[in-house]
Amino acid sequence: MSKPFQAIRGMNDILPGESAQWQRLEATVREVLAAYGYGEIRLPLVEKTELFTRSIGEVTDIVEKEMYTFADRNGDSLTLRPEGTAGCARACLEHGLLHHQTQRLWYAGPMFRYEKPQKGRYRQFHQIGVEAYGMAGPDIDAELIALTARLWRRLGIRDVTLQLNSLGSSAARAAYRERLVAYFTARRAELDEDSQRRLTTNPLRILDSKNSALRGVLADAPALLDHLDPEAQTHFDELRALLDAAGIVYEINPRLVRGLDYYSKTVFEWVTDALGAQGTICAGGRYDGLLEQLGGPATPGVGFAMGLERLVALLATTDPSAAESAANPHVYLIRVGDAAQRDGLALAERLRDQLPELRLRMHCGGGGFKAQFRRADHSGAHYALILGDDEMASGRVALKPLRAAQGEQITLPREQVAVHLRAVLDLTA
Ligand code: ATP
Ligand code: MG
Repeated sequence: MSKPFQAIRGMNDILPGESAQWQRLEATVREVLAAYGYGEIRLPLVEKTELFTRSIGEVTDIVEKEMYTFADRNGDSLTLRPEGTAGCARACLEHGLLHHQTQRLWYAGPMFRYEKPQKGRYRQFHQIGVEAYGMAGPDIDAELIALTARLWRRLGIRDVTLQLNSLGSSAARAAYRERLVAYFTARRAELDEDSQRRLTTNPLRILDSKNSALRGVLADAPALLDHLDPEAQTHFDELRALLDAAGIVYEINPRLVRGLDYYSKTVFEWVTDALGAQGTICAGGRYDGLLEQLGGPATPGVGFAMGLERLVALLATTDPSAAESAANPHVYLIRVGDAAQRDGLALAERLRDQLPELRLRMHCGGGGFKAQFRRADHSGAHYALILGDDEMASGRVALKPLRAAQGEQITLPREQVAVHLRAVLDLTA
């Protein structure tokens, strides 16, 4: 026999034991987004390569070395989306969603980047992204940040810090870029190979280097925040005042830049120490130039994306068992004997009619009481519902608690099972 197939490196299966945590995360994000009035947009996984080179920028990590680019059968160059902002902007322009109106949108799904796979860094990973268009002021920046802060609270995530910076206008950034190049050129010997290359291509990205040997030379670098244009400075001051008024705590990080070219003014990241090196769970900022760059009318935009693998990993450190037990069945139905097999299915269907919230797993495949009870214990169910020859003869059903402190086994008339389960399981229906 040949070796079984394996998934592509850096592309993960999410197994049933993990998907409960994903579902809880996604459901909470959906609720919070709905509460703030954001609507979902569903976008293709594949776009024209040029969309990404034009929006993300030629000299970024993504475009230089991370894109999954291939030729379509007709020769077009296509790319598996490495992020969602470009596709979302493209869709809004294509469908006229920005015509004299604002938009609050979100999307979820896999993104693809050819990276070195490691903990928290994969080649297929998942993001939920949020974008707001047509609003130039700092209030929408503050709303997006407040939304993320609420999300962490709802998820029970505590050990995260908000880092904030401003990249200024593109004119201010160009002037700053010259200062930065002068500074780094003078200390060129202290830079690593990657940063020396960036000195000519994308010097701001040197600030984002993860090489700890560069700490000294980075610490003394001129800060963009000291060179903001007046408009960006006012925007930043107002954003800070809004966050202060809302009680949202942040740290100013003058070295915070984003890997993508299209940002201006506000940039922010939520960072945790609990995940090791890949500690950024959410990153975003303002990109007022992007829509024009893609051929649309000048339209302000601001947004963020969160990395779901990292969030799931973080949730697992806070409460590993919560989501899994929430997905366990309430009831495991044991059926022993031919008549019980038949009647058991009908009983299960009736209970599902009566209690839509009930999670009932029916034993299939036969076997005696002992084998079926073993499965019931294994399932993590709260109760075993038992139908055997005795119960068939008496017209009753036995209900056996499978966990400590849930009392003794009882028998119930069939028509009372639903009422009883509703009460002991605290179901609403
Ligand atoms: P980094 O500097 O760590 O590569 P980035 O700037 O490329 O991050 P963004 O493009 O801002 O990341 O993506 C937003 C979020 O998506 C990140 O903060 C992270 O949580 C997640 N993310 C990005 N790339 C990956 C990846 N390869 N695997 C898992 N999650 C990722
Ligand atoms: Mg990256």
